[in-house]
Amino acid sequence: MSDAPHIIEPGATIGMLGGGQLGRMFIQAAQQMGYRVVVLSDEAGGPAAQVASEVIAGDYASHHLAALADKCQVVTLEFENIPDDAVRALSGSVATYPNARILQTAQDRSLEKQTMADFGLPVTPFRTIANPASDEGRALLKQASEELGLPMILKTARSGYDGKGQRSVHSLEELADAAAAFGSQRIVAEQRIAFDREVSVLVARNRHGEMAVYPLLENDHRNHILAESICPADVPGAVAAEADRIARTVAERLDLVGLLCVEMFLIDGNRLMINEIAPRPHNSGHLTIEAAVTSQFEQHVRAVCGLPLGSTELRCPAAMVNLLGDLWPSGGGSPCFAEALKVPGVSLHLYGKAEARVGRKMGHLTAVGSSVAEARDRARQAYRCVGG
Ligand code: ATP
Ligand code: MG
Repeated sequence: MSDAPHIIEPGATIGMLGGGQLGRMFIQAAQQMGYRVVVLSDEAGGPAAQVASEVIAGDYASHHLAALADKCQVVTLEFENIPDDAVRALSGSVATYPNARILQTAQDRSLEKQTMADFGLPVTPFRTIANPASDEGRALLKQASEELGLPMILKTARSGYDGKGQRSVHSLEELADAAAAFGSQRIVAEQRIAFDREVSVLVARNRHGEMAVYPLLENDHRNHILAESICPADVPGAVAAEADRIARTVAERLDLVGLLCVEMFLIDGNRLMINEIAPRPHNSGHLTIEAAVTSQFEQHVRAVCGLPLGSTELRCPAAMVNLLGDLWPSGGGSPCFAEALKVPGVSLHLYGKAEARVGRKMGHLTAVGSSVAEARDRARQAYRCVGG
């Protein structure tokens, strides 16, 4: 909105679309700064709703969006899988960040990768296949396997997270099976990258165009789900500088207002390749709560409210481990945390989810230390204490 105030001062009301843990931690940061946060979520007792100043329980139907717009000076989102139409409609009556175009881009792996390539940025080699099970789709898949080489990773173009909707294919037989399994869903076929490590970079940009980039994070995934992050990543200065350049380019070219994470592969110790972007606070950035001068959540608040961005400097090295539902006793109850909290430098975050399921993110542990190695050892020690 062109007539939106440039600065939304603490004390004002922020709207939040989505009700999960990212929303919860955003709200906690916003409230610390004196903002009220109204959540629109169909999960009335969910992680964000539990701590919100006010909850509108419902979906993204127009009357719910209108009710939210009425109460807020600015609206933001906690994840990218919110219908871009809803965001576009909302932005007609209240400033809404990030913009609908960024969402549209991040919601579709094919458009996302093409957009990054169009910006001149390095991205994993890929092909888009509109209808894998059709004769034409099968031929395109075979051609992709010849051009990109096997193994490949096939991913649904839309609505994947935590590795859902992905298949690795190692042979032409597996390719044929996968084509049948994906049916008519549009997919991207990617070269499987033999990366050394996975890294991510967080960038914030406020409505005045000011930007701030965090030190590089290094991430370890298990079963396609983030398991552990450390910061700062141990990479040559030139790699850190390249990550910074990539992050700023993405934020600027997409006209980001808010926070965005770029997930990348590090290859041959010196080359970065973009895997995907997430236009929101990111799981790998949770350790900024304890380790950075300004947490990613506070930075998100500052960015969408037009406040000056905070320092992204680290106070100390840190490590984070995710706590998945796998750790929760199957008969109910929760793990014991007292032992873990004896470990020096460890902080516990639980998201208030009522039901623990395998693979579900229930919380995380962060450990700080005088070195990355110490922080990681502490995080792992604490993790073992809760049964990990
Ligand atoms: P998330 O929500 O956790 O980010 P996602 O479902 O959006 O996951 P990706 O980030 O694309 O999916 O993939 C999940 C993980 O699978 C990556 O972090 C990486 O470990 C692995 N992976 C994905 N694509 C490739 C690839 N082309 N080559 C090698 N590994 C890959
Ligand atoms: Mg990912």
